[in-house]
Amino acid sequence: MSYIYLVPIHLHRSVNLEELTRCVENTFGVRTKTRSFKIDLPGTYDPIRKQYNSSLILRQLIAYPPVDACKILGITAVDLFIPILTYVFGEAQLDGIGAVVSLHRLQNQFYGLPENHTLMKDRLIKEAVHELGHTFGLLHCTNPGCALNASTYVENIDQKSHELCIDCREAIGLR
Ligand SMILES: [Zn+2]
Ligand SMILES: [Zn+2]
Repeated sequence: MSYIYLVPIHLHRSVNLEELTRCVENTFGVRTKTRSFKIDLPGTYDPIRKQYNSSLILRQLIAYPPVDACKILGITAVDLFIPILTYVFGEAQLDGIGAVVSLHRLQNQFYGLPENHTLMKDRLIKEAVHELGHTFGLLHCTNPGCALNASTYVENIDQKSHELCIDCREAIGLR
């Protein structure tokens, strides 16, 4: 039996992953385990950009994968970047084991709007399914509403669902 590992990275205790867990399990038909890994987050910080290098976090996440892990998803609240982009909501290995998502830019407060916990949780679930979809080998999908639709801005996330469209489901052998 293999599991999708959900790995909170220095996440505040108030962040509840229950709904995310359920959604991931239902979407991919794989059970999850929530575990802490030893991640050196400060070591991934770029003092010039004042952001965290998501590729370096990803590298640590997958360094010693548990034998029963089919996928490993890190969940963090810090602001992530990859060198060619201003920021990323997350990063994943295409057809690999690891992915990471960040809450940072999913929070209304980041945009100067009133806090909305439900909205943040919904966005996190969509991005988690999105990045995990990449680890299952899915590329970006042009079907509106599909979780694998590319999201550059948070508004794009709000326009899609947390579900995979029929094409994406078929592509990875789900019904
Ligand atoms: Zn993507
Ligand atoms: Zn799709």
